[in-house]
Amino acid sequence: MDILINEEKLQKRIQEIAKEIEKEYEGKQILFLGVLKGSVPFLWELAKNIKNDIRFEFIEVSSYQGTESTGKIKINKDITQSITGKDVIIVEDIVDTGRTLTFLKQYILEKKPNSLKIAALLSKPSRRVIEIDVDHIGFEIEDKFVVGFGLDYDQKYRNLPYVGYIE
Ligand code: 5GP
Repeated sequence: MDILINEEKLQKRIQEIAKEIEKEYEGKQILFLGVLKGSVPFLWELAKNIKNDIRFEFIEVSSYQGTESTGKIKINKDITQSITGKDVIIVEDIVDTGRTLTFLKQYILEKKPNSLKIAALLSKPSRRVIEIDVDHIGFEIEDKFVVGFGLDYDQKYRNLPYVGYIE
């Protein structure tokens, strides 16, 4: 396993994003909407570095009809609390084609939150199929399949404390 982003760099960058969010939300309550399962470590590292009142909610989605060109998204686990009127931040592990976040943004906006932003730990700009505005990005990376810090290969490697890649 080769290391792409080590633990120290991850922590430092996540703390920077945490400070940005703290500034933007000035003491407001925030609802973190984590996209299962990969966002869990990022969500926790962000949350513990922010002093605001942060509530957690989770959603799990997957793409079906497998292929990249058709890639539709379905909800495997839906949210269980109302988000109407809330200040929501979608927390995602990685933006690849942009399909998942485009779907989620639309889905959440229909529920009329007070505000909606997106934080993603990683982004692969070269892979984008749909343009999507992401408010906070940890690291832009090249087109490599990455694992660790929540990201899996066949459900494995999620608990690695760094982001690595398999050649
Ligand atoms: P998108 O809808 O933006 O194409 O894909 C987002 C999802 O694809 C991510 O939430 C993640 O589950 C998966 N994904 C994309 N690139 C990678 C990668 O390099 N490694 C892993 N483990 N998952 C990825």
